[in-house]
Amino acid sequence: MLDFSLSQEQLELQKMTRKFVQTEIIPYMKEWDEQHHFEMGVVQKLAQLGLMGVCIPEKYGGAGMDYNSLAIVCEELEYGDTAYRTAVSVHTGLNSMTLLQWGTEEQKEKYLKPQAEGSKLGAFGLTEPGAGSDAGSLQTRARRDGDSYILNGSKIWISLSDYADHFLIFATVDPSKKHKGITAFIVERNYPGVTTRPIRGKLGIHGGNTGEVILEDVRVPAANRLGDEGEGFKIAMSALDNGRFTVAAGATGLTRACLDASVKYAHERKTFGVEIGKHQLVQQMIAKMEAGYQISQLLVFKSGWLKNQGVRNTRETSLAKWIASDVAFQSASDAIQVHGAYGYSNEYPVERYMRNAKALVIYEGTREIHTIMQAEYALGYREDKILNRMLPPWPFANSGDYL
Ligand SMILES: Cc1cc2nc3c(=O)[nH]c(=O)nc-3n(C[C@H](O)[C@H](O)[C@H](O)COP(=O)(O)OP(=O)(O)OC[C@H]3O[C@@H](n4cnc5c(N)ncnc54)[C@H](O)[C@@H]3O)c2cc1C
Repeated sequence: MLDFSLSQEQLELQKMTRKFVQTEIIPYMKEWDEQHHFEMGVVQKLAQLGLMGVCIPEKYGGAGMDYNSLAIVCEELEYGDTAYRTAVSVHTGLNSMTLLQWGTEEQKEKYLKPQAEGSKLGAFGLTEPGAGSDAGSLQTRARRDGDSYILNGSKIWISLSDYADHFLIFATVDPSKKHKGITAFIVERNYPGVTTRPIRGKLGIHGGNTGEVILEDVRVPAANRLGDEGEGFKIAMSALDNGRFTVAAGATGLTRACLDASVKYAHERKTFGVEIGKHQLVQQMIAKMEAGYQISQLLVFKSGWLKNQGVRNTRETSLAKWIASDVAFQSASDAIQVHGAYGYSNEYPVERYMRNAKALVIYEGTREIHTIMQAEYALGYREDKILNRMLPPWPFANSGDYL
């Protein structure tokens, strides 16, 4: 039986996160965006509310809620601003959920637990100056040396680079093996040889932190290798199944923010003797935002439902991410249009929404990459197989062994 309703617990989570965003983010966001300020106090408060590990089992320090609860949190956060949803995306979606899926018990105890509790922040380092969509061609090297690996290379466009305590870094043990040489490592910020620097001059997400991670002869214990040598590409792609889910959920919140701002303004602004909401072409833009919001949310919840079942969802998550991010960007552009010249200034938040929304159609698989993926699935050129380690289904088992 299909059930489209949220549980009582999810409704309470939604209400709590919405209130948090209204009181702790929205009143300050214009100023933080102007000052390019990422407020760590917000992250600390999110941790106190259990929102930095909402879908991580309680035994690993999380709130133990289902995967759609993570989507609810992301939708609400991005209603306030993309920066804080991005923080949860990389910390929980890309890093913690990957540790949950692929980590050893020791790695979960040492790294996942403090991350889920929110006392440590996690980030995800896949992209390099010469490798974005074509992640299989990354050049960061990992050389085995006794009980350690020595890592050299640089990562770029890494969200939370200046704040994260732990990085999931993808490096190759043998570039000639292409993606089959890629291996994943948990790298601590305080390891000698790790430096970070922020990227200046971004179009949007001014209230967020994005930067470079430079690795110079960084000695990483072999115990911090996630999965086997050569398994890193598979791990990175499975991490993206969860990261993209959070981006799609966030995009849904951004679309709702565009819709709410546009509806409010359409009632306030008058032209030709009537409020602009009475003009059919303005109604068309608002109708598209409403439809886009509903469609995006359905696609996100379907993807979360599949995660709860413990089955592969790469196809469905890619579709949700592609459609929801495209809808968010179009909605933000239309929200400016509804506001006329005022939308073109930062007197209203819609210009920030559009600058932020552009990132959504670029990161975690560009619009073009998801278009190609969907065509390949439809044409039968691509299919998903069960991985040797799957994300645990929800409700979580009490035992730590999900495999
Ligand atoms: C704000 C922000 C935060 C980010 N955070 C992170 C992070 O935390 N961790 C991380 O690892 N990365 C992060 N990224 C990087 C992001 O994932 C990459 O930018 C993205 O994967 C695209 O790679 P690229 O920028 O190198 O573009 P390219 O791969 O160089 O693509 C350039 C253009 O070519 C198109 N293109 C490429 N290949 C094809 C093809 N086969 N067919 C058709 N068109 C194609 C693309 O769609 C795009 O339009 C972030 C990026 C941004 C903007």
